[in-house]
Amino acid sequence: MTSIHLFLNNSISPATNLARSIKLQNGRFSIPSNGSRVIACANVDVRPPDSVSSGKLGFGLGSKEVVEAEGRVLVGTYARAPVVLSSGKGCKLYDVEGREYLDMTSGIAVNALGHGDPDWVRAVMEQANTLTHVSNVFYSIPQVELAKRLIACSFSDRVFFTNSGTEANEAAIKFARKFQRFSHPDGKEPPIEFISFTNSFHGRTMGALALTSKEHYRSPFEPVMPGVTFLEYGNIQAARELIQCGKIAAVFVEPIQGEGGIYSATKEFLQSLRTACDDAGSLLVFDEVQCGLGRTGYLWAHEAYGVFPDIMTLAKPLAGGLPIGAVLVTERVAAAIKFGDHGSTFAGGPLVCNAAIAVLDKISKPGFLAGVSRKGEYFKEMLMQKLGGNSHVREVRGPGLIIGIELDVSASPLVDACRNSGLLILTAGKGNVVRLVPPLIISEQELDHAAEILLKCLPVLDEGNSN
Ligand code: PMP
Repeated sequence: MTSIHLFLNNSISPATNLARSIKLQNGRFSIPSNGSRVIACANVDVRPPDSVSSGKLGFGLGSKEVVEAEGRVLVGTYARAPVVLSSGKGCKLYDVEGREYLDMTSGIAVNALGHGDPDWVRAVMEQANTLTHVSNVFYSIPQVELAKRLIACSFSDRVFFTNSGTEANEAAIKFARKFQRFSHPDGKEPPIEFISFTNSFHGRTMGALALTSKEHYRSPFEPVMPGVTFLEYGNIQAARELIQCGKIAAVFVEPIQGEGGIYSATKEFLQSLRTACDDAGSLLVFDEVQCGLGRTGYLWAHEAYGVFPDIMTLAKPLAGGLPIGAVLVTERVAAAIKFGDHGSTFAGGPLVCNAAIAVLDKISKPGFLAGVSRKGEYFKEMLMQKLGGNSHVREVRGPGLIIGIELDVSASPLVDACRNSGLLILTAGKGNVVRLVPPLIISEQELDHAAEILLKCLPVLDEGNSN
């Protein structure tokens, strides 16, 4: 049992603040029903949840009930796997029935430190116990500290915080437009258009969606932001020609495409974009929402290329599972942004930023990053050995721990079979790529185990599967 001590303010007699002890029982707080309300949390006993292997925090509901209730009360935007997860530790997840899964999804490349990392839990609990939210009307220390750290370990000079990846890209769009307006004070029409690439994913809000290549994500919501041209990822000539026209405010590119199917840019491609943008006065934006922060074995994916952007967007793993996004910019870009140009109520709050400091401090250690590279190579090698001989496997690719297994058929039956065998994996691309983005703390034994399950489940692809 986790015991949490809270100060309660009795609303009937406000002068009498009573310290009462509240127990967490069966996953619910029991608060005395005498008109008291919680005003401050004074002492939190931090321990790893004892519910980890028993799935106790399931509100007493079974999977079937939750799935049925979800179908009645949630807007139907998600085709979820029929698993109701209730707890996790390290790279293991547990459903409400207590079944254990090896997590190679990390909440879609989010839980880089796995589930319940003790340093992360401590950072969250301590900060929650001190100050959670203040809005950006005021200053707060964790926000400034996190920005200092991000600047110290990147190309950037300044940071703007958001709450998600799509919002980070939305901010980058606005910053690029403002930068161009600021750079063309002569009254001439500034460049306002954007370039994005095939297989790109930049988010679901109207601007970021306009930059996202999958037509069926965009078409039901048109008109999205106008002025976006999609070019073939890697086509240097086409990009150079379009950038030269002088109408391009910014080029958005993922150094490694995640959702699109785990495709890596070449150095020549990114270098050419850099040169063309410099020549034309366009900005180069690297979207590292999925591939950034250690996933490739480099702190930033672009470091492997030695090519640097004007703007980089981050999100997923930065706060270890809490919602955050960040836009890292050079001083030149920041100089164009003035008070009131952009903002957010929640972004950069003390709680998420303190969590992010714990994540960044761990991941940015050279030993940690070297471990990601080593484990990535080990895993890829093993996957090629074990799965490479299967006629459905076309390629195993990706740097570090962002690995794609391209199949000649739909990956869905394999995803389902793996889940039934206790392994959680994702798809990418047109559904024919298995995407493996485990917590970066995963052990070699766990990688062995994942490869074994994948191998065991591969025959399911022969059972009447078509792409
Ligand atoms: N950019 C990239 C590269 C992404 O992979 C994603 C999410 N898959 C996004 C942006 C959008 O992030 P979010 O879901 O946090 O809005």
